[in-house]
Amino acid sequence: ALQTGDNTYVFYEKEIKENYFNNLKLETELRSALEKNELSLVYQPQVQVGTRAIFASEALLRWHNGNLGQISPDQFIPVAESTELIIPIGNWVLEEAIKQNKKWLDRTNKKNVVAVNLSPIQFKKSDLPQIIETLLKKYEMPAELLEVEITEGILVENMEGARSQLEKIKALGVKVAIDDFGTGYSSLKYLRNFNFDRLKIDREFIKDYPANDNGKIAKAILNLAKQMDLKVIAEGVETIEQFEFMKENGCDEVQGYYFHKPLSVDDFEKLITEKVSE
Ligand code: C2E
Ligand code: CA
Ligand code: CA
Ligand code: CA
Repeated sequence: ALQTGDNTYVFYEKEIKENYFNNLKLETELRSALEKNELSLVYQPQVQVGTRAIFASEALLRWHNGNLGQISPDQFIPVAESTELIIPIGNWVLEEAIKQNKKWLDRTNKKNVVAVNLSPIQFKKSDLPQIIETLLKKYEMPAELLEVEITEGILVENMEGARSQLEKIKALGVKVAIDDFGTGYSSLKYLRNFNFDRLKIDREFIKDYPANDNGKIAKAILNLAKQMDLKVIAEGVETIEQFEFMKENGCDEVQGYYFHKPLSVDDFEKLITEKVSE
């Protein structure tokens, strides 16, 4: 194939090699990201559909590296997961978000929930509930102001293990959301077997509405969630049409550029100080 003028194979191999070296480079730099203080969190407001009040934010990880510049979490989280670096990084995210949310609570007197993404690898570790409990105590952060977001992937491998882990986290008073709903597999089974507080509809089912998507899947997910007594939040709402669609179809909450992009600590605080968000 190499000699016949068909470059596909050559190109593919080159790409694999480039990916390999890029990931090695990422891994090397990521190993020192924590100690070099290169990680930070931004917070994307979550808004109640009826009142448009902010009631929560999702903490989203950012990495700025001296050599590589800004790297998106979609790029470096998989590298962190393949090297177990996700454990110290994930613990850092939990601590930072809890510490920050307690600061906002004290400074603004507004009870906003902070939602933290958990990697499957982090979720599986048996000491996770203990770590969360210790952090909540350390910062005197009310447990009900913390939510963890998990994806279906977490529940697939070991359903019983996942269920008992979830119950331990819930027993602390922490809320649990199922993230990226509809993009994984056997979604319905997991809805039945796990006691979630909130379901996040993936942007996938919103992004092309109304031009290239009639919204039927989003509607079906909303109906299903209602049947199961779950609060539903739609992520990735970018336009007024998408917002109106969610409103008309009984979606409780939205998160997306239509209202707010992810914000710095200061900008989020300004926003919740200006707006009535009780
Ligand atoms: P996710 O959990 O699905 O987070 C939502 C992503 O959608 C965020 O991307 C957010 O900035 C983006 N987004 C929100 N609203 C809109 C919108 O209206 N339009 C568009 N186009 N995008 C929107 P981000 O911050 O780049 O994060 C990407 C993914 O990286 C996250 O997806 C999550 O899977 C992962 N991630 C981010 N922070 C963490 C973390 O602390 N821990 C772990 N384990 N994963 C994280
Ligand atoms: Ca998320
Ligand atoms: Ca999501
Ligand atoms: Ca998503």
